[in-house]
Amino acid sequence: MSGAVCCSNCRDSPCRCETPDRANQDTSTDAREVLESPTGLESGRKYILFDIDGTLCTSRGLGFDWACLSKVTRKDIRLDNTEVSQTADTDLSHVHHILRHHGIPEEDIDNTCRAFFGESQPGAEQWGLTARCPGVMDALDWIRRTADQVGCAVTLGIWTGNSKTNAIVKLEAAGIPLSNFDFRISAFGDECPTKLALFELIQRVIERTYEASGLDMHSILLVGDAPWDIRVASSVGCRSVAVTTGAFGAGELAPLGPDALVSNLTEAFPFFRMFLSGKLEQH
Ligand SMILES: [Mg+2]
Repeated sequence: MSGAVCCSNCRDSPCRCETPDRANQDTSTDAREVLESPTGLESGRKYILFDIDGTLCTSRGLGFDWACLSKVTRKDIRLDNTEVSQTADTDLSHVHHILRHHGIPEEDIDNTCRAFFGESQPGAEQWGLTARCPGVMDALDWIRRTADQVGCAVTLGIWTGNSKTNAIVKLEAAGIPLSNFDFRISAFGDECPTKLALFELIQRVIERTYEASGLDMHSILLVGDAPWDIRVASSVGCRSVAVTTGAFGAGELAPLGPDALVSNLTEAFPFFRMFLSGKLEQH
């Protein structure tokens, strides 16, 4: 398995690259560190960025470490005494909203957020049952094998409103190995207030890391379950797959015009194949 994963990171078959076994992947390197220290350059790579909730796995509740919120604010902050934002799409914007609701002065909010995300240690039990969405493991494996077959270098990343800590806890609780994803080409909800801003962070990292002469937005595929995921894809001009394994149905997602709309990720195999083989560019 590690050989197949490794081959997706280079163009050689059999693989001759030096990529270490991703089962031991270092998740401490993230997008902002890459921006500060660029690596190599290439072009022609494809990027598939996955949302987490409703796309890779499902879990209950907001998943905040409420005890930590109370500690860093010295206030009694609980789910049942808090107004939860209905519009925030990242953990950072959720925490901003909660802190304002509990009267934290505007000038203290940024520092309080940093303290919270620095100390927060949520456990999987906070979400109750966390489960993989149907077809996820098959799809992750199939994408890598198909990329090798069609000679496409592909990077899989995470693009989520969850904080990095929450994202890791959820993926591990759902039994989805972190080694599937390149955490450098990923962005998490404690970094930016919107999913669009998270996308733009990843875009800058891709350009700095791989695409010396500009990034073709059609080389990026966003996979998500929510209307705002598809709206981001449309607004930036990249490809999108909408999956109905989350809280939204086909009736809500279809009008937004995703490139593919599927009831689980395995149904998107024909679309993934066209994306990886470059055939979508002909359409
Ligand atoms: Mg989602």
